[in-house]
Amino acid sequence: MDAIKANVARIRDEIARAAESSGRAAEEVTLVAVSKTVEPARIQAAFEAGIRHFGENRVQEAQEKIPLIQGPVTWHMVGHLQRNKAGHAVELFDMIQSVDTKRLAETISRRALQAGRRMDVLLEVNIGGEASKIGIPPEEIESFLEEIKDLPGIRVRGLMTIPPYDPDVEKVRPYFRRMHELFQRLKDKTSPSMDHLSMGMSNDFAVAIEEGATMVRVGTAIFGARGQ
Ligand SMILES: *Cc1c(COP(=O)(O)O)cnc(C)c1O
Repeated sequence: MDAIKANVARIRDEIARAAESSGRAAEEVTLVAVSKTVEPARIQAAFEAGIRHFGENRVQEAQEKIPLIQGPVTWHMVGHLQRNKAGHAVELFDMIQSVDTKRLAETISRRALQAGRRMDVLLEVNIGGEASKIGIPPEEIESFLEEIKDLPGIRVRGLMTIPPYDPDVEKVRPYFRRMHELFQRLKDKTSPSMDHLSMGMSNDFAVAIEEGATMVRVGTAIFGARGQ
């Protein structure tokens, strides 16, 4: 548990340094602790260490764990969401970061309205064009946004991406840069209310922040390696 506290402190330092080097304050970057596979007691320890945003990637796991965490927490769905679980997701989460099809956006909107709320969402972009990854191709994001941005049950808060993995973070930097350009262009043109660019994980969050991330999703660097 002490390790979690030390990890959070170290990551906050790195976030502050990276934010400063991109001309921003540390408070302008939201740290989401990705707690998938992590048991509730250790999630609670991260909360005690000051974490207020947590990310999960499976609805069923989130259903079991979220009620057990004490305190004001903002929950993010960061994994692929099946449409038949959208109703549960709307009840459990404050933000869904993985909207990648129009039908999913429509289903979330409808379910949110039924629940009497409007759901914050991010659109997931497949910035590397990888066949193995879900996400909207960058060249389609503008028309996608036009199609869904007026759905009454969602509020599009920005973009999310998982770039191609490379142990050399400098090889990942160009993807982050392209995402930021895309985000800025959409914001200027279509959606000035978009305020979040979610990119960067344990091994590359500092570089993502240097390139303009407003939200980073960090798992391993906080909780340690996940068992399988
Ligand atoms: C697991 C996961 C993360 C965190 O990954 P780490 O490398 O453990 O920091 C971030 N984003 C998504 C979408 C994930 O599934």
